[in-house]
Formats: sequence, C-alpha cells, structure tokens
Amino acid sequence: MPPHAVTNKTMPQAQKINLLDFTSDKLKAFFQDRGEKPFRATQIIKWIHQYGVDDFSKMSNVSKALRAELEEISEIRAPEIVIDKASSDGTHKWLLKLDDGNCIETVFIPEDGRGTLCVSSQVGCALDCTFCSTARQGFNRNLSVAEIIGQLWVAKKALQPDPSSDRVISNVVMMGMGEPLLNFDNVVDAMTLMLDDNAYGLSKRRVTLSTSGVVPALDRLREQVEVSLAISLHAPNDKLRDQLVPVNRKYPIKTLLESCLRYMDGKAAREKITMEYVMLDNVNDSDQNAHELVKLLKDIPVKVNLIPFNPFPETRYARSSNNRIHRFRDILEAAGLIVMTRKTRGEDIDAACGQLAGEVNDKSRREIHFARIES
Ligand code: SAH
Repeated sequence: MPPHAVTNKTMPQAQKINLLDFTSDKLKAFFQDRGEKPFRATQIIKWIHQYGVDDFSKMSNVSKALRAELEEISEIRAPEIVIDKASSDGTHKWLLKLDDGNCIETVFIPEDGRGTLCVSSQVGCALDCTFCSTARQGFNRNLSVAEIIGQLWVAKKALQPDPSSDRVISNVVMMGMGEPLLNFDNVVDAMTLMLDDNAYGLSKRRVTLSTSGVVPALDRLREQVEVSLAISLHAPNDKLRDQLVPVNRKYPIKTLLESCLRYMDGKAAREKITMEYVMLDNVNDSDQNAHELVKLLKDIPVKVNLIPFNPFPETRYARSSNNRIHRFRDILEAAGLIVMTRKTRGEDIDAACGQLAGEVNDKSRREIHFARIES
C-alpha cells in the first residue's frame, strides 16, 4: 500500500472547536455567524463555566437541534488531571496534561475566608529569573485560552465534591508557570472569563496578574481588561535586578515604575500595586537594600509582599532567616510602607512560589534525551 493510502479507520478526525477557547463576545460572534441568536452564547457560557458541564445533552434550555449541531462540530475540553497532590496544610497541586503531552501545574491555596488558585500561563518560561525553578525547565509554548481557563474549570470541579467554604475558589493569581504578559491575548481572554458574571464572576480585586515587567504589554493591559497587578521587583536597584530578573536589562526599574504609575492613573487611592520581593539570604536582604527600596517606592501606591525564598534542587540561593525578614520588614514599615510577608504554603508537595515545574514534562524530556543517546 502506498504511504498516502490511509484507510478510513486511520483518517484523522477533523479537529473539533473547543468552546473553552471562547469569551462571551467571541461565542456570540460564533453563534451569529451560524445564524443563531447571540443569547445562546450566554446560555452556553453559563453551562460551561458556572455549572462545569462538558456534555451538550445536559444543556436542557438549549434546543435539541442546536445541541446536536454543537456536539457534531465542537467540544468542551479542559486539560486532564494526571496527578492530584494534597499538602498537609490543605494546599492542592494538580499536574495537568495537555493535548501535546506537555504538563503544567496549578495550585489551590485555602486560607481563612478565601481560596486562591494559582494559574499557569505558559509551558515553562522564557525569562530565566535565576531564583525560579520554572525557568530551569526552559520554554515550550504559550497556553491557549482553553488551557488557561481550563485550569479554573478543572480545579472548580475537583474541589466541588466538598463544597465547604474554604474550598471555594474566590481569588485567582496568574502566578503559576510562565510570564503572563508574554502570552498577552490568551491571558486577557482567560481573565475576561474570570471576571464575566456569566462565567466565574470574580471581582477585579480578586484576579491578579503577576509580571516580571514586560513594559509594552503592561501598558496595553489596562485598555483590555482591568485586574489587580503584582510586579516581581525583587531588587531595589538595576545592578542587582539585572542579575535576578534578566528582563530588567531590557526594561529597567525606572521604565517599569513609570509604567506602573500609568497603570494606576485614575484608580482609587485604596487600590495598590503589589511589589513582590523574594527574600534571598545575603543577596537582596540587607538593611541597605531595605532603605534603597523605601526610596524607590515612596511615591508609588504599593504594598510590598516579602516572599521567603522557596528552594529547589541545585539552586545557588538560600532563604533569608526569619530575623532578617523581620528586620527588613521593620525598616519598610517604619518608613510608612504597607508590608505583608507571604506565608509559605504547600512546601511538602513542591507547590510553593517558584517551585512549579511540571514533573512529567521533565521526565519526557529526559526520555527524549536518553532516546537520542541510545540511537
Ligand atoms: N512570571 C510571572 C509570574 C510567575 S512567578 C512573574 O515573574 O511575576 C510568581 C511569583 O513567584 C513571582 O514574584 C516570582 O518572582 C516568585 N518566585 C519565583 N521563584 C521563586 C522562589 N523560588 N521562591 C519564592 N518566590 C519565587
């Protein structure tokens, strides 16, 4: 048989449209193109995101004919959970498998009165921050809208069997694997769904995008979607930040802070940008560093989030001592800054900030590597 003569059995199925990729507006346009009424989009968005339904036959207020048509051409497909790890402190980490075999990680952190989901935006990360474990994975690709919002969809369903209050997702932080502003369009659409009353209905104060400071994209963000902002600052001067967060060489601190001010322009005084500052022993945690930070941030509406460094294998860094963190915090507070120290959660399951790496992905890479060696 010539190589092109495939039988029906092996003929690839036409790819179905994944409805998880659509915001309400895009789904409305999709239905209008097919001669359907736009309100169908609202119905379907509710079924998918509010009720977690992926089976068209359950969509009881949608006509049978439309359900059959949707079944034929589309699907609702989220990443698949391959590992579900629970920490002794209630934190959950899911390893999710994507269609191409890559794996990403999503973390749920229950706290008093709220539950935060930490969502990934890319497979790996291209930015190479020296203290981050995701950076060591290298970069593979951007996640689709379905793969980003699918993390929320999957986590909500996985937590639902026990709908006690501390297992409800009340907040989302784009602080998982990847740099969200380097996957701009898909992240904007996914966050639009997070805010959409017909989908997840989270307030803009409860959805936070964390960035290492990709300034041109940050400038565009506000026009597209309004969410809370966190900046991975980590150093009070360019010399140090160039080493820790290499994107600083392209967009130095002054340029970044000017962009932050533009972002906050016209916002209520109570709204503040979170400045993330990882506490690295003997690297960025001296009294002098604290004083420099005070000077840098004095005219910007910020709160500072001190993050005790979370170690990972072969890292060259160590966590600052508790005493050092307290002292650093005291200096900032004495100067009038609002400071929080992030509680480290899920350490026993490698789910803390900067520890997300997608283990299965790692393994497959090693397998490829070994296959190369062996061939
Ligand atoms: N790329 C985005 C979001 C991902 S990281 C960003 O840079 O903001 C989320 C937060 O965890 C960032 O502030 C990041 O700098 C911090 N982080 C990364 N590695 C860490 C580690 N090993 N310990 C503590 N925080 C870390």
